[in-house]
Amino acid sequence: EKLKPDSTTTLVCGFCSTGCGLNVHLKDGEAVNLTPDTQYPVNLGMACPKGWEALAPLNAKDRAKSPMIRTKNGKLVEVDWDSAMKRMVAEFKNVQSKYDDEAVAFLSTGQIVSEEMAFLGALTKFGMNMIHGDGNTRQCMATAVVSYKQSLGFDAPPYTYKDFEESDVIILVGSNLCIAHPIMWERVAMNKHNPEIVVIDPRKTETAVAGTQHYPIAPKSDLAFFYGLANQLIEQGFIQQDYIDKYTNGFEGFVEHVKEYTPEKVEEASGIKADQLQKLVDTIAAGKRVSLWWTMGVNQSHEGVRVAQALINIALMTGNFGRPGTGANSITGQCNAMGSRLFSNTTNLLGGHDFANEVHRTKVADITGVPVDSIPEKMGWAYDQIIDGIASGKIKALWVIATNSAHSWINQQSFRDIIKKLDFLVVQDMYHSTETAELADMILPAAAWGEKTGTFINSERRYGMVKKVKRAPGQALSDFNIFKLVANYWGCSEMFKKWTHPEAVFQMLKACTKDQPCDISGIKDYQMIDSCGGIQWPLLEGEELQDHERRLFADGKFHHPDGKAKFLYEEPRKALEVPCQEYPSWLLTGRGTSSQWHTQTRTKNSSVLTKLYPKDIYVEINAVEARQLKIEPSEWVWVKSRRGKLKARACPSYHVQEGQVFISMHYPECNYLTFPSFDPYSRQPSYKACAVKVSKM
Ligand code: SF4
Repeated sequence: EKLKPDSTTTLVCGFCSTGCGLNVHLKDGEAVNLTPDTQYPVNLGMACPKGWEALAPLNAKDRAKSPMIRTKNGKLVEVDWDSAMKRMVAEFKNVQSKYDDEAVAFLSTGQIVSEEMAFLGALTKFGMNMIHGDGNTRQCMATAVVSYKQSLGFDAPPYTYKDFEESDVIILVGSNLCIAHPIMWERVAMNKHNPEIVVIDPRKTETAVAGTQHYPIAPKSDLAFFYGLANQLIEQGFIQQDYIDKYTNGFEGFVEHVKEYTPEKVEEASGIKADQLQKLVDTIAAGKRVSLWWTMGVNQSHEGVRVAQALINIALMTGNFGRPGTGANSITGQCNAMGSRLFSNTTNLLGGHDFANEVHRTKVADITGVPVDSIPEKMGWAYDQIIDGIASGKIKALWVIATNSAHSWINQQSFRDIIKKLDFLVVQDMYHSTETAELADMILPAAAWGEKTGTFINSERRYGMVKKVKRAPGQALSDFNIFKLVANYWGCSEMFKKWTHPEAVFQMLKACTKDQPCDISGIKDYQMIDSCGGIQWPLLEGEELQDHERRLFADGKFHHPDGKAKFLYEEPRKALEVPCQEYPSWLLTGRGTSSQWHTQTRTKNSSVLTKLYPKDIYVEINAVEARQLKIEPSEWVWVKSRRGKLKARACPSYHVQEGQVFISMHYPECNYLTFPSFDPYSRQPSYKACAVKVSKM
């Protein structure tokens, strides 16, 4: 009776980019439990284990409840907000006056609401004179952003989830949809066209087991494989010349480029034989609605942009764009990675604008009320460049917001050595116990999802509402209110007098999108988003929202000045680290379960979710190789790379091929092994491949 709800409200889930709708049941205005929203067009009444347990992390014992400062003896002590703000501002200003403005930087997240991302980006870059700041979205989505921008003229994922149900050929590349995006997989399962479900992945993942065709390409052979596939589609005449002529540029060059990728060359690079490649060619040729989907297996690569563009090229040349059930479709990772792509003020100026463009700077200044000369003309460094900047002594103070770099960044030993060089590290998080918070000089306690208001944008470009359904513990404040406080203490609050509350910021962001491809001037307010079951961008002023599921490019008009999409391609690059005699196996990393989220900071606080996942770190090793090495199931083994080693329980399996092992990213030790190489265009780290050795202890 004590927990019997007296009302219900709706909001979207705060973990992954699927953006499921949840009904949160309240007692006296506080959440007591939740159920999936049966009316929400994304999840249709379903939720994965994380969604069902979304309230549990709010009640964790290690919630940060008060600002904390590290004393000279290394202990963190609680202080009030006034002391914390004075100290933070003094430290940051001191660094800026001793070195220069660029000596202070920030690292943020795809987990906070768009209004907070925008405020952080505006406060730091317009108010605090910082140049360098990036998000953890660099680790997951940067490749998709750059590939879309270069190929289509704007970062515009073209699809809607209904496309999962409308394709007759679904090609999943480097995407373990079954566990990484389980509700999207459920949408695939609802497909009534008896689709071919093609999985292209070195591992026999859960999705590969559930699909109808699996192509276990060798790690880092993607580009040669897709060029070879394109070559065969062209040679055998399975292209849509009309579509290519009308809507694209650069096809002739692409035809020439892929000619050398014969089936023999594809087999040599990828291990996929000519008859298997032909089967895929025939499958695509027979498909009336072919969709290609990719996730981190493509994005987290030293040549991810060109691989993503190889998929875009195949969709374009076969005319699989803009129609139901088609598209070259990037699936985002975090709940608000899409918001970060448009509004974080890192990779572009608010609303998908350019820092370098004076007209864009003036437009943003006019709308947001900040002086135009406070807007920098150049973009800041990417995540890896910020870390390098700390290593070289150019960056001396860092503000980390809602991300756990000391678990998630690639090549962790090096990261931890570098981070110790900082003069001052501020970590703003809902927990004081993350690996990164443990290194901090100051912790700022932040409210969590469910304790504040704002909007997320999901993978299919849908705005969804986040609402306050619980009070934040102790003195914890929403990130929005922390940014307001920092602005006050910094002395730049006058510049942000229009930034009063999240919905006021939403209205300004909406105005920033006007006349952009992501124009949402037709969304009136929060109430409209809530009552419509979320709204996908674009929605132009005066446009009526007729359908819950809308896709882009139905008219074949792309966002380059000539209105055409571009075929982009280049020679594959060699991976900088490959297996050798000393380290004979590829290490593949990725999600290991649908019950844990990233670095487990939140999901480890649900007793239900932790029961669904092995506590001990494990390494999947090919069963034949395990026998040769006399390694028994569950035995502790060493896994070593040139950068570090870890102990893991052996999990012999046929899901990894000989010469490959797999470790889940959810375990903190994983990134002691990974090798820091980056895509040259997106600067996204290549988490998916490095050389390791497994041995008995
Ligand atoms: Fe939340 Fe993603 Fe699970 Fe949906 S699939 S309930 S958005 S974690």
